Amino acid sequence: MVRVAHIHMSGCTGCLISLADTYEKLLDILGAVELVYALTLSDEKTEITETNDKILIERKIPENIDIALVEGSVCLDDHHSLDDILTTRKNSKIVVALGACAASGGVTRFARGGQMSQPSHSAFVPIGDVIKVDLALPGCPPSTESIVNLIMAALNGDMEYLEPFAEIAKYGKDACGCDVIKGVIDMSLCMGCGTCASACQVKAIDMIDGKPNIMTEFCIKCGVCGAQCPRIRFPKVVQKIE
Ligand code: SF4
Ligand code: SF4
Repeated sequence: MVRVAHIHMSGCTGCLISLADTYEKLLDILGAVELVYALTLSDEKTEITETNDKILIERKIPENIDIALVEGSVCLDDHHSLDDILTTRKNSKIVVALGACAASGGVTRFARGGQMSQPSHSAFVPIGDVIKVDLALPGCPPSTESIVNLIMAALNGDMEYLEPFAEIAKYGKDACGCDVIKGVIDMSLCMGCGTCASACQVKAIDMIDGKPNIMTEFCIKCGVCGAQCPRIRFPKVVQKIE
């Protein structure tokens, strides 16, 4: 049985909720995997010890994880966060950056610290800045279908389906609306289909004269517009066909 873990870093649990939104498909997935760690759903790997009237709760990320679904970014000012992400990499065959915060930082890119009760917590980075990531799925949250398809492809070893997600893991850590500007519009590849505008969950893109206009002040750096654009991988696809 494939051992799957959900690792919660500096995220909002929205990615896990998106996965749970699959309803009966989630039951199919759970029938095909062993969920070995998911703090939101299970505490069986948590160790609680009592010493000198103190209760110590230790999270134990298990060994031999096949697929780790990591949600949220890493707070560089929080050693627990750093320990968790390093342990996850050490213990996992495939690490998936699930959602914008893990993949590209997302809204946590705007964190500047100065808030109670941890004003020193100011720097949040995508997990790929700290560890090697195998697959990255952008979105805030990623759609239910995209999560299910990615998990099923990973379970089935469908490398062709997974290829774009492996690419995003390597190059997508600084995602923003500028991805479609630099990678598509400025390359004369935009065909004005409007997919990026439809995909943007905060409506930071509108179409003007058939071309996307990115309102960067609204962009939450989720990376979806670039990932969804049918032209962003166009040169590579053509190269492959040739
Ligand atoms: S999705 Fe890509 S091709 Fe379509 S309008 Fe947006 S940038 Fe252009
Ligand atoms: S423009 Fe929209 S879809 Fe693109 S990265 Fe920003 S928030 Fe995400």
